[in-house]
Amino acid sequence: MWRKELQNNITTIAELDDFQDLSKIEKIKLKKVIERHPMSISQFYASLIDWKDPKDPLKKMIVPTCDELKLSGSYDTSGEKSNTKFFGFQHKYEQTALVLATNQCASYCRFCFRKRMVGKHTQEVIQNFKHAVDYIQAHAEINNVLITGGDPLTLSTEILQTFLEDLEDISHLDFIRFGTKVPVFLPDRIIEDPDLIELISDYNRYKKQIYFVLQIDHPREITLELKKAVDILKRAGVILNNQTVLLKGVNDRPEVLAKLQNTLVSIGINPYYVFQCRPVKRVKRQYQITLEEGLHIVQKAKTFLNGHSKRFKYVMSHRTGKIEILGIEDNNIYFKYHQAKKSRNFNRFFHKKLDKKACWLDDLA
Ligand code: SF4
Repeated sequence: MWRKELQNNITTIAELDDFQDLSKIEKIKLKKVIERHPMSISQFYASLIDWKDPKDPLKKMIVPTCDELKLSGSYDTSGEKSNTKFFGFQHKYEQTALVLATNQCASYCRFCFRKRMVGKHTQEVIQNFKHAVDYIQAHAEINNVLITGGDPLTLSTEILQTFLEDLEDISHLDFIRFGTKVPVFLPDRIIEDPDLIELISDYNRYKKQIYFVLQIDHPREITLELKKAVDILKRAGVILNNQTVLLKGVNDRPEVLAKLQNTLVSIGINPYYVFQCRPVKRVKRQYQITLEEGLHIVQKAKTFLNGHSKRFKYVMSHRTGKIEILGIEDNNIYFKYHQAKKSRNFNRFFHKKLDKKACWLDDLA
């Protein structure tokens, strides 16, 4: 059933034209955009968009625009190439292994930092999961694995089962994470697959703890259907964390960011990270806000939040590590490494002179 739903995703400009009127020129330009970076929008997500509102935040996240023809930025902002041990397998932080299990998602976010590969022909997806298992087995320092992509929940339950079975006997592996936006785009994937729920419930009870790292970016993505999926996952013992990307025109108002975090907590999802939008090619111009603006939004949002709702860290996922953006004082901006690739940066606290236009660490002198 959920597979059928996926097949009905909006993937062509002609289908998009049924939802919003496009001029002839726009159609030509957008066709160019999606030839390079495919469009895919689930019918469920399309039903959440106010198509008459040109500034609808959900539309901004998922519908391509001609701004994607602007080329500034990079396709590898977090240094993924240098962390890749073999296709589809990365090891950046000592304790964490990362597997790119697929290049497919239930819909394609236009701001995705893996835009270089989602929905596209790529060699970056893991070819043989056993190679990942062998690597993890041989590295006792790894205590968790993040299975991501793309969205691993677009894979069949049978494939997910083989992943879990392959990982289950690694004694130094404490928990397994799945990075997914499926509960937002295609909640039926969770709601209508009792085999998946039985599988993860079994692992949570008897084998390894499973975490889902969700990506919910706007309060309107928290639908009744998402709540139902979340409830099912919680009853199956899954621990749910959420990361949000701070995006211009989407969640860049303190009230919106605060409402998002409060609503997440009210349904049992833990706020985990708020990410500074990366300077991704074809993304940064439309979505990135400055570090100064980001700090203002996050700090103001925190004044509306209780301790639990403001546990998230505001970070930059930089090629050198996850860097927490702490604050501004006396024209300096302060940072601290939360995760570091090199040991010399572990816990390093540092500051840079504030540049009001800077959106990323590399923009600061
Ligand atoms: S769901 Fe995640 S991987 Fe897929 S397009 Fe969105 S951000 Fe990228």
